[in-house]
This record gives sequence, structure tokens and C-alpha cells, in this order.
Amino acid sequence: MPNKEMLLIPGPTPVVDEIYEALARETMSHTDMRFAGIFSEALAQTKKMFNTDGEVFVIAGSGTLAMEMALANTVARGEKLLIVSHGYFGDRFIGVAKALGIEAEVLTAEWGKQIEPAQIEEKLQQGGFKAVTVTHADTSTGVAANLDKVVPAVKKYGALFILDGVCASAGLEEDMGKEYGAPDYKIDVVLTASQKAIGVPPGLAIVVLSPKALAAREAMDVCNSYYMDINNWSPIMKEPQKYFATHPINMIYGYAEAMKIIATEGTAARYRRHIAIGKGIRAAIRSMGMEIFAAEDVAAPTLSCILYPEGINDVEFRSTLAKKGLIVAGLLAALAGKGFRLGHMGNTTNDIFCKALQIIAETLTEMGFTVDGAKACNVFHDVFAANTK
Ligand SMILES: *Cc1c(COP(=O)(O)O)cnc(C)c1O
Repeated sequence: MPNKEMLLIPGPTPVVDEIYEALARETMSHTDMRFAGIFSEALAQTKKMFNTDGEVFVIAGSGTLAMEMALANTVARGEKLLIVSHGYFGDRFIGVAKALGIEAEVLTAEWGKQIEPAQIEEKLQQGGFKAVTVTHADTSTGVAANLDKVVPAVKKYGALFILDGVCASAGLEEDMGKEYGAPDYKIDVVLTASQKAIGVPPGLAIVVLSPKALAAREAMDVCNSYYMDINNWSPIMKEPQKYFATHPINMIYGYAEAMKIIATEGTAARYRRHIAIGKGIRAAIRSMGMEIFAAEDVAAPTLSCILYPEGINDVEFRSTLAKKGLIVAGLLAALAGKGFRLGHMGNTTNDIFCKALQIIAETLTEMGFTVDGAKACNVFHDVFAANTK
């Protein structure tokens, strides 16, 4: 079932044939040992991708469920959380914390900018923070967090480092075994979902907890959720034929296939490819006279927020692209109407980006801004090649 449209939004991302085929396989019993084998293998590969000796949980749900599950199992009611927000999805933790009775404080970046590590340290110096959430790539601004700077700033104060990888995992490095300057300065939790850089349709919430994060759950009396409590899921993830709640069987087939694709490409090569694609796209977009909302040094490799030249009607522009088979997303909140979001992550080929750039150029030209799509495509290829050498 080849894709008929180019779905270049910040998730869901294009689904490759092998994954569609996996999704369409015959549904087995959730207690079937053959299914348990497939699931176990996928979980083992997930552990490898995150380089963790902790535990991986893959359950039915979206990224928001994963955000909530991460907090519900690490921060108890009444404990303090610091939210480092680079936009709309960073802010989403405010609501999640509130629903769980967690006392949250927020550091909000000016949209398009990063929070400085010094600001985080200043907050944490006040003491009492159990954990800090950081959004790896905020889908509303196209800004990526700098883990080299932010992880040590948090770990210095002993708080758990919780990373929202929903628009990053499998596209940006999230190495939970990596020491960020000291032996215990490591990422404690990564939460993510199936439909972004992993390249599976929406439907799976993925939460990875380090041994330290697992210990935080053990130290809590209760988890304020039944379905999300990792104590209910731990035995199941070790032996998936056991029952707690019915697995999303076909989604797991698709996920297992995605994990194979990622392992075959190799995570290092995959992260390098995403960095090169991001640079290529941004250079190509600039060659067409448009601007990227995030500055180059903070821009996420997985998506771009692109600003229109003066005089473009957002609805007309995006619906024209859609008629030509290219689906992009609008900008959010204060940026709405001023440009569009282009996703460039997952199991993509460079071909699709060239086609997309050409459609964007054609549409701009129709709207009175003459730009050269072939040139933009060449810029993309040249910059990509220079960054994958
Ligand atoms: C998409 C996204 C989410 C929300 O995921 P859903 O699957 O829509 O619930 C959370 N965080 C980030 C960074 C995202 O990009």
C-alpha cells in the first residue's frame, strides 16, 4: 500500500510498505507465544536504541499518555516538578502535573529560544525538586534542547531528568547510557510515541525508565493511575504472553518492523541522516527566500517551522499544497497563520523532500513569489551530502 500523499507534518510521518504489511498481518491472541516473541524482540531493540539497562514500556496510547505515565511513576502527589518549556508541548506538562496533583513550576523560553542552563540551576538551587521535564524537540517552535548543557544542569542537583522525545526519538540521539560530564549524570526517563521519527502510525506510547527512575516508583506508595502504573506492566513487558490488558497486537507488529528498520540503518547513521536532512531543508527553504523560525544553532533536525514571505494566505497556501499531494501543518498559537510546519523525520527518502520543495516553489510562484524549485532541490542535496560525508 504505497503512500498516495506526502505526509510531511510533525507526525504522523510517512509509513513505509514493510510497516503497512506488518500492520496488516493476521491478528493473534495476545497470549500467543509467537506474539510474545515478536514483542520481546521489539522491546529488546528499543532498549538497545536507548542504550538503557532500565525497562521499556510499550502500551496502547498516544504521546500524551506517555507524558502522563512518565510523571505518574516518578513524581508523587505533592512533590515538586520543574518544567522546562520550549513551547506548546513543554507547556502540556503543566496540565499533566496538575491532573496528577504534582506541584509544578515552569521555566518558559521565549518562543524560538532555548532556556539557559543557568536559569535551570537557579531554580533547582531553591531545592526540593524531584524531577525536571525537558522537551527534546518542541513541535510548536522547531527548537531542540541541548542535552549536553541541560542534562548536567539538572543532574548536578540530583533531580530526575525526564525527556519528552515524542518528536525526536529515533531521529535524535537519546542515549540513556551516556554520561553527561559525570558518571551519574544521565537521562533518567525518555517518553515517546510511535508516529513521529519512529515512523509507525499513531497508537503506541513508549516510556523508558532508567534503574534510578524505576527506584523512584518503588519509593512511591501509590501511582495515581491503574492503567499507567508500571508495577502492573513490568511483569508483562518481561513476559508479554501474560495478561494485564490486551496488547494492541497489530500495532506491535508494525512497531517491531520499525525497530528492525532502525537497527538495520543503525542509530548513529540514522541520527546523522536526520541532522543532514534538517540542515539541507533549512538551507533549501532559505534559498527560496523564506525564513526558519528557530535559529540555526537551536533548530531541530526533525521538523522546521517556516515563516511565509509577507502577503501569503496560510489557508490558501496549505490547501494548494494539499491539492498537489503535499500535506504540511500550520503553525500554532501566536505563530498561527504566519507560516507552516514541515516534518522531516522517520523512514523517509531524500526524493520525497525534493518533490516537496518543488511543490512549495511552484505554489509560491503561483502566488507571485517567483522561486526556483530545481535550485532548492540542488541546495538540499548538496547540503545533505556535505553533512553525511
Ligand atoms: C506530538 C507531541 C506530543 C503529543 O503526542 P500525542 O501523540 O499527540 O499525544 C508530545 N510532545 C511532543 C514533543 C510532541 O511532538
